[in-house]
Amino acid sequence: MDFDALFQSQLDALKDDGNYRIFAELERKAGAFPAAKCHDADSPDQVTVWCSNDYLGMGQHPAVTQAMKDAIDNCGAGAGGTRNISGTNHNHKLLEAELADLHGKEQALLFTSGYVSNWAALSTLGARIPDCVILSDELNHASMIEGIRHSRANKVLWRHNDPEDLDRKLAALPANAPKIIAFESVYSMDGDICPMKEIVEVAEKHGAMTYLDEVHAVGLYGPRGGGISEREGLADRITLIEGTLGKAYGVVGGYITGSEALCDFIRSFASGFIFTTALPPAVAAAAQTSIQHLKGSSVERKLQRERVAYLRKRLDQEGIPHMDNPSHIIPVMIKDPVKCRMIADYLMQQYGIYVQPINYPTVPKGTERLRFTPSPLHSIDDIEHLVLALKELWKQCAISHAVA
Ligand SMILES: *Cc1c(COP(=O)(O)O)cnc(C)c1O
Repeated sequence: MDFDALFQSQLDALKDDGNYRIFAELERKAGAFPAAKCHDADSPDQVTVWCSNDYLGMGQHPAVTQAMKDAIDNCGAGAGGTRNISGTNHNHKLLEAELADLHGKEQALLFTSGYVSNWAALSTLGARIPDCVILSDELNHASMIEGIRHSRANKVLWRHNDPEDLDRKLAALPANAPKIIAFESVYSMDGDICPMKEIVEVAEKHGAMTYLDEVHAVGLYGPRGGGISEREGLADRITLIEGTLGKAYGVVGGYITGSEALCDFIRSFASGFIFTTALPPAVAAAAQTSIQHLKGSSVERKLQRERVAYLRKRLDQEGIPHMDNPSHIIPVMIKDPVKCRMIADYLMQQYGIYVQPINYPTVPKGTERLRFTPSPLHSIDDIEHLVLALKELWKQCAISHAVA
């Protein structure tokens, strides 16, 4: 069997569809974000990053990097084991207390990433709650989909952000079946926000557990960065809140928060928690510092909002269509995978603007897009440069000005 030929033929098919992924090789420069050195031959040496999930630039915040350095000097590089076998560091426990406080929950549990936290928590809940049914928003992230699949629990999809459809689907299930509603607050590709209060009310009506992914909201929404559930005053009515330390907090790692019994249950039964080396203590220390900072400071959130509003206004003025939404994510729809890649390449090579094309399967075919995430550290000049480049491109490429 010629395995490489088999691999190559499937890769060629991806390329033919315009869905082959090419990574930009960057070197982030602490203190210069969103500027980065670029190592790609066809691109300028320095580029402006327009698609980072380090939404507030906390990955280079002096207090965060200092906390990481201090913890390395104190504890060394790695955790030295799984959480069970010699790997639980004091810094992990401090971070878990910080996270429990962030969401007003009894306890928190750390994972090596947000992906792993969703996969591990949902697969454990679905597998170990007898006759459990998981009701999953149809646009949930791959990490939740995989966790639910792995649990082998019954899965019911409900229409995206549609509490009435959820209500109907719940009503059709046996009243005594344990039910988990899995959903997100901010959906990262369209930037829309769920009707949380309505979903919580439907859940309460049917006695269902709520499982909320706040990955794209923590650090960014709510007076202390506790996410949409904090902003809406609903955190205490959500059973489990999941988040990441890798996006707005600028580090890496994932977590769940909830009751003591719930967290102890996942800690005790989740293979994805138990059988893997704990996060480096320095990562935990840096993440804790980032969370603490954003609990006390809204300066970054406020400036980010101003930059987002400014870019939207300028795109409107120039007739560049973008998807309207109430979040910090600005999708510019291209609706063609080849064009999307071409425009992204052109922006990078001609203008030093780095925005990764978003193609299938991250988004449905025909909805290919560029996804801009302005941060507090993008200057007005950065935004004007971007708008100018897009304006030129729209002229040259005859892309539709019709609003998405
Ligand atoms: C990125 C993402 C995750 C995974 O978080 P990581 O910390 O990057 O592994 C989970 N859920 C959603 C909605 C995401 O976009």
